[in-house]
Amino acid sequence: MKLLIMGPPGAGKGTQAGKIVAEYQIPHISTGDMFRHAIKEGTALGKKAKKYLDQGLLVPDEVTNGIVRERLSKDDCTKGFLLDGYPRTVSQAVSLDEMLFDLSMKVDVVLNIAVSNTILFKRLTGRRICKTCGVTYHISFNPPKKEGVCDECGGELFQRKDDNAETVENRLAVYNNQTKPLLDYYSAKGNLYTIDGEQDIDEVFNEINQILGRLK
Ligand code: ADP
Ligand code: AMP
Repeated sequence: MKLLIMGPPGAGKGTQAGKIVAEYQIPHISTGDMFRHAIKEGTALGKKAKKYLDQGLLVPDEVTNGIVRERLSKDDCTKGFLLDGYPRTVSQAVSLDEMLFDLSMKVDVVLNIAVSNTILFKRLTGRRICKTCGVTYHISFNPPKKEGVCDECGGELFQRKDDNAETVENRLAVYNNQTKPLLDYYSAKGNLYTIDGEQDIDEVFNEINQILGRLK
């Protein structure tokens, strides 16, 4: 099961990815998570990526393609994977096709989670994440039982630095200009499924499950 999950920032990709990988036992490959991890660790990659994440701009394609190529060639990806937040430009999609061709693989399904801009803005500015286990909450739409504390592990919740109003506006504009054109790229290939991401979290997952269930 080789899957891509696409959609604008805040559409719920990470939330759904968590459920998909638990259900289908495949690795979750999020380029955003990889960059944030590298920044936290202060690696050379982190130093290169930081200024782009801080401004809500895309990290250059050659850097991003390089980390994905390395990750996809690991053994745990042979049976499947879920790519989240990659590709984000047509040029990345072309590179991904080349990488997969070299690995004798292909993408089975592209899931596109659609949500309108007003809702995305509220979702991103209200997002909170557990420092310890990474589970995602929302202060109004998906709140933890106790404010600021993770239901799963009791860890402290934090707000991503790029989830502030100004950077969110940039990220939504970057999505519309650079990533949205990719939908035509995958639509032409015939494996694009668009899901209404404004439904409840469980309803969105149900739809995804129905699509993926046909692949099993
Ligand atoms: P993405 O990975 O696409 O940027 P997330 O999965 O992190 O998005 O979700 C963004 C925010 O919206 C989080 O605070 C999350 O709890 C919330 N959220 C996700 N899916 C839904 C949904 N279907 N309805 C309401 N809120 C949602
Ligand atoms: P995300 O966690 O998907 O919201 O991504 C956070 C940030 O990481 C983005 O705003 C970009 O700066 C960077 N990023 C993540 N994925 C990519 C990608 N495929 N190409 C370029 N930059 C990316």
